[in-house]
Amino acid sequence: MEKYIISLDQGTTSCRTILFNQFGEIVDFEQQEFKQILPKKGWVEHDPLEIWETQLKTLTSLIKNNNLSHSQIEGIGITNQRETTVLWDKKTGKPVYNAIVWQDNRTIDFCNELKANDKESLIKSKTGLVLDSYFSGSKINWILKNISGINNLIENNQLLFGTIDTWLIWNLTKGAVHATDVSNASRTLIFNINNLSWDEELIQLFDIPKSILPEVKESSDNYGTWKWEGFEIPICGVAGDQQAALFGQCRHKSGMAKNTYGTGCFMLMNTGNKPVFSKNGLLTTIAWSMNGNVSYALEGSVFIAGAAIQWLRDSLKIISSAEESELMADKSNDDGVVFVPAFSGLGAPYWDMQSKGAIFGLTRDTGINEICKAALESLALQSRDVILAMEKDADMKLKSLAVDGGACKNGFLMQFQADILQTEVKRPLVIESTALGAAYLAGLYTGFYNMDNLSNNHKIAASFNSKMDESTRKLKTDLWKNAINSIINMHK
Ligand code: ADP
Repeated sequence: MEKYIISLDQGTTSCRTILFNQFGEIVDFEQQEFKQILPKKGWVEHDPLEIWETQLKTLTSLIKNNNLSHSQIEGIGITNQRETTVLWDKKTGKPVYNAIVWQDNRTIDFCNELKANDKESLIKSKTGLVLDSYFSGSKINWILKNISGINNLIENNQLLFGTIDTWLIWNLTKGAVHATDVSNASRTLIFNINNLSWDEELIQLFDIPKSILPEVKESSDNYGTWKWEGFEIPICGVAGDQQAALFGQCRHKSGMAKNTYGTGCFMLMNTGNKPVFSKNGLLTTIAWSMNGNVSYALEGSVFIAGAAIQWLRDSLKIISSAEESELMADKSNDDGVVFVPAFSGLGAPYWDMQSKGAIFGLTRDTGINEICKAALESLALQSRDVILAMEKDADMKLKSLAVDGGACKNGFLMQFQADILQTEVKRPLVIESTALGAAYLAGLYTGFYNMDNLSNNHKIAASFNSKMDESTRKLKTDLWKNAINSIINMHK
């Protein structure tokens, strides 16, 4: 009987459960969306019980639909939306408040107060992160300050905190295990990435009682067992979504990087067993740990990537589907149009939140094909800016770029990315790198996979090499730099 690993992929909008075989291939999957709760401008919440029920439903349906027996499932891996924060009562299992989602910015003022008190560099040196409402620390603080009766729970040692991985593990093990992995812990703003422990000074700064924090384990480790209808399956791989994707893409060595092209872009570069602290506003994060070895990564993101293509489709209505952008770009003239989709400011390495987007270089000949092309090019040019910053920070040269995410299916975009980086771009056969990474972390723990399998399984579906001549590349990147300078200067 064939054996499998099950991967739970708990995302921002849906829960998925995916069945992987020995070759790292997807055998089947189940997916279900859940509610986005938007109580006020800038507030984003999820119902933790709905997340748990939705995740469990996809897990049990997958097992039933595939008639799997207990002995066919080697282990469970978990990957999750990062930073999202849940606090719950360990006696009743009930959350004390909804999960505050990573996108939620209700704690901006609190973060600004800490900045005004000069706490940013202390936090950065310990956590590798910037002081921002995005991470869990200030979200935990908000729940502790705003929910009545919480002090009672703390006094009775009854309150628990977790990111979504921890919440799922606690529920899967019926409250037996309260744990997280180092990659998720490294996104909380209270975890010291140098000595791998909750930081006393930071938990005081955020006014968080130590008793509510989970045990921090390796990414490939024993997280207890899930027992259901005669099944007894070990949970043994855990990592935050972007780190899991880096692992699933087999970027296991220093200098290797992946870029995920979704609504935004998420880039991670493995920097080996030492944290590299950025001078360009990138984040330093723990990629994973296993067998006592920790790998670190530099992380940078592009706010508006696939979202620019959505804008062409939904606001300008010049394409009817995201895929159509490729056909239009292929038909376009190269007339030097530059599109900077800075709809919500400019991120790394510019960090100019007041910038607005712009389209430059319009002529009488510019049409919708040229605009589509410039929009696709902007995904690659923004990614290039982040990659150059990473190379500078890490003092390493990228050898190739592994890609995944919805927009990596766009051949025009991938070719242009290779052209503009002058680096090989590799699209794997399985682009579900996130779920695969969690499956690998679990399967490595049980012995279902070994590191050689992982490399052999990593099949490349398409690879793109630079075909652009140097003068065109220079022209394109110079125009881009000028466009960026213009939008920054516009509001100065
Ligand atoms: P997310 O996980 O952020 O929701 P996905 O990885 O599902 O994103 O990718 C969806 C995004 O990718 C959308 O913003 C969409 O506009 C873009 N996209 C999807 N397919 C293509 C394509 N063929 N060409 C360009 N963009 C695409």
